[in-house]
Amino acid sequence: MCDSGVCEDKPPAPPVRMSSQGGGAKDPQSANHSSRPLPSVPEERKSRNKIISMFASEKGGRKKDRDKDRPEISSPSDFEHTIHVGFDSVTGEFTGMPEQWARLLQTSNISKSEQKQNPQTVLDILKFYDSTSGKQKYLSFSPGKQGTATSQSGGKDGEDDDDDDTPPPVVAPRPEHTKSPRTISGSSRADQAIFYFNFFCMTPIGTIVSIGDPKKKYTRYEKIGQGASGTVYTAIDVATGQEVAIKQINLQKQPKKELIINEILVMKEMKNPNIVNFVDSFLVGDELFVVMEYLAGGSLTDVVTETCMDEAQIAAVCREVLQALEFLHANQVIHRDIKSDNVLLGMDGSVKLTDFGFCAQITPEQSKRSTMVGTPYWMAPEVVTRKAYGPKVDIWSLGIMAIEMVEGEPPYLNENPLRALYLIATNGTPELQSPEKLSPVFRSFLSRCLEMDVEKRGSGRELLQHPFLKLAKPLSSLTPLILAAKEAMRSNR
Ligand code: ATP
Ligand code: MG
Repeated sequence: MCDSGVCEDKPPAPPVRMSSQGGGAKDPQSANHSSRPLPSVPEERKSRNKIISMFASEKGGRKKDRDKDRPEISSPSDFEHTIHVGFDSVTGEFTGMPEQWARLLQTSNISKSEQKQNPQTVLDILKFYDSTSGKQKYLSFSPGKQGTATSQSGGKDGEDDDDDDTPPPVVAPRPEHTKSPRTISGSSRADQAIFYFNFFCMTPIGTIVSIGDPKKKYTRYEKIGQGASGTVYTAIDVATGQEVAIKQINLQKQPKKELIINEILVMKEMKNPNIVNFVDSFLVGDELFVVMEYLAGGSLTDVVTETCMDEAQIAAVCREVLQALEFLHANQVIHRDIKSDNVLLGMDGSVKLTDFGFCAQITPEQSKRSTMVGTPYWMAPEVVTRKAYGPKVDIWSLGIMAIEMVEGEPPYLNENPLRALYLIATNGTPELQSPEKLSPVFRSFLSRCLEMDVEKRGSGRELLQHPFLKLAKPLSSLTPLILAAKEAMRSNR
């Protein structure tokens, strides 16, 4: 078992986590994910892919399936439908709740007493689930007697850009040993429309790619991974001999093409040593090739699930990610999906942020956004409860990622995602499993990241000055962890 956070004086070979599900020290549930009591989540929602579909994600949401379950809502334009959801505090039952929500709630594992304690929060998070369809836009609820949920349906409001007939892309499963419901992506169509419009003003993809044949410029393609949107290869630049990573994306299969454009444009614009560098992109028929620098160390997820990091290594990673965030935020960009999966490592220990599909640009006038995007377990409370939010959501997620580095996984990972949202909203700052094992300076850093009050939460710039980062070892200290993670994964296989 990993002695989380107190591995400082370890001999060269880094300690390996006993449970590669991470969080070996956690509750018995996490120790054996498959044999724990059923969390009454319907089977189809338990796998990573299916959860993605439930969130109607642009990363391969199975919209059709979801819509089969959904009560038919006709689509006349500009009409408002008001749902009155009441809560009877005596029986603890909601009244007038849409059937879809009632079903979600029934399978959520949120207990009756929890529902009774925070009926408004329950509605807020149910709204989140549903909002991803773009059909329910406004909701207000007064706890106690009768609340009001107003949904605006249909209407060509420019947000309804779903490509309903596009078959969902195949989502590659995470390697068995790290499989867990950790990656859930959700964003509303409204949100897509906003950043498509604000950020790039309908940039046609043809205008952002280079002319040429990537099969001639790069050679020795070797598949290294499969993502939701496409396949990733390593290849060699014929002209320079440099090794690169190339993501091949079939645009026809993308339900959310603007996300891909978003990703390319952000990578292209945002050059920084702590961001995975964009090299070039090509369009060959429907196939888009995005060439980027190759990071051979794999993702930080591999390291957190397979090894134990000491505080000096955690500090080094936090500093690097904060540098990337300070840079993005100074350029009015919120990443919105900070988690270990989106941090790639070089064999030399370099740490770089990737996955810019969810990025949003904020203008000084409109510096807060109010749509939910990201991965539930890493989401800041103000996102979960649909308050206006800004760049500090990334700082919260960094705090959650720091917990991953200590415990191997984010809080509530084994909870039903809806219940996880409920817990984030109601518990606020999560508790560590063994806070006494962390140094005071590290705990202070964590509480600056995981501060509920957004005003008090540190900014990227402020946190770069935090004394915890002075503990950081050189980045080369990460290399043994990367090697150990690779070795552990090989033997797990
Ligand atoms: P998507 O980004 O399409 O929603 P994803 O994040 O799951 O899905 P990809 O980004 O396509 O997947 O990456 C697939 C795999 O390739 C991942 O394991 C990732 O770590 C790896 N990978 C992606 N980019 C690079 C890179 N520049 N260097 C090294 N490995 C990479
Ligand atoms: Mg990715």
